[in-house]
Amino acid sequence: MALIIQKYGGTSVGSVERIKQVAERVAKFKMLGHQVVVVLSAMSGETNRLIKLAHDVQSQPDARELDVLVSTGEQVTIALLAMALKDLGLKAKSYTGAQVRILTDNAHTKARILNIDEQHLRTDLQAGNVIVVAGFQGVDEHGNITTLGRGGSDTTGVALAAALKADECHIYTDVDGVYTTDPRIVPEARRLKTITFEEMLEMASLGSKVLQIRSVEFAGKYKVKLRVLSSFQDEGEGTLITFEEDDNMEQAIISGIAFNRDEAKITVLGVPDTPGVAYQILGPVADANIDVDMIIQNVGANNTTDFTFTVHRNDYARTLQMLRDMQAKIGAREVIGDDKIAKVSIVGVGMRSHVGIASSMFKSLAEESINIQMISTSEIKISVVIDEKYLELAVRVLHKAFGLEKAA
Ligand code: ASP
Ligand code: MG
Repeated sequence: MALIIQKYGGTSVGSVERIKQVAERVAKFKMLGHQVVVVLSAMSGETNRLIKLAHDVQSQPDARELDVLVSTGEQVTIALLAMALKDLGLKAKSYTGAQVRILTDNAHTKARILNIDEQHLRTDLQAGNVIVVAGFQGVDEHGNITTLGRGGSDTTGVALAAALKADECHIYTDVDGVYTTDPRIVPEARRLKTITFEEMLEMASLGSKVLQIRSVEFAGKYKVKLRVLSSFQDEGEGTLITFEEDDNMEQAIISGIAFNRDEAKITVLGVPDTPGVAYQILGPVADANIDVDMIIQNVGANNTTDFTFTVHRNDYARTLQMLRDMQAKIGAREVIGDDKIAKVSIVGVGMRSHVGIASSMFKSLAEESINIQMISTSEIKISVVIDEKYLELAVRVLHKAFGLEKAA
């Protein structure tokens, strides 16, 4: 007998029919003698609908009230699934995040889980119940409802798996696993049987939307056995997230290609090449709570240098204006920007033990005359910023160049 956490995404509970199918899948696991905790998202489209309602009423919705509102989406699906399970003759109980007491900090709309009260869940499980928990939400120490950020139900699932020391955490979604890249762009993209936790972390932070990044962080920290599966297929082993030290399999050099169009680039030209300039530029950006991703400073010439960085596109106009306002004070010649950029990244732990990966990447892009505007690397990834209009081409040629369509 095992304790299994199963998280189902919005499309998997998008209709009454689908909810009944989830109930049947859960029943199958229950019949095998397992204990099951189910974590649900809201019906697909529901969270967006609720956010829009809020904006129709208040131009900048109050964060506390927004959380009260959007957390209702998951309350609907958990109750319906518990009913469907009872209809199949199972014992089931639904709980909102606050009822479980998933304690979070008070950062409304992007709260972090601090602690989970799991004792009463255990009692319920021992009494033979399937427990159905609302994903994406918690409660702060003062009893205010909080939410965990878009895609946060993944994190609820993994956090519950960690708290209950579950044997496995299954993330059921509308794809049957983690792919080498988005199959909508590269039809030859392949499902990975395994991906290491570190690669998954990079993929999630670089734009792959399969798992919320915080759920991957949680899984890494607590060594949760995490598997991504399709809820629309009965068979299939999905993708297992492994830990490198436990993984004896021959690793491909590159596991996947991630990309995003969410960033914009800002360049401060002709700043004095003196100590403290980076701080003068980025200090106020950080104070304004704007996340900076890539940063490049050129080699100085004639005592001046250029400084380029990227921010989220939503913060682009604000950051550009801020720097233009500061231009005279910094002593910069000009501040320019571009929000038609895209970031493409290749990810793989095999990079640690192989040379020439970067040059192969740059060669493939050069052969298609794709200009690289910025480069950044870590031990297991190389990212480039290019013109947005070449994004799909770049992903396709890299997928081919690294042989990702072939089984590892
Ligand atoms: N319903 C929330 C969202 O759409 C949380 C989730 O689905 O993970 O972002
Ligand atoms: Mg999701």
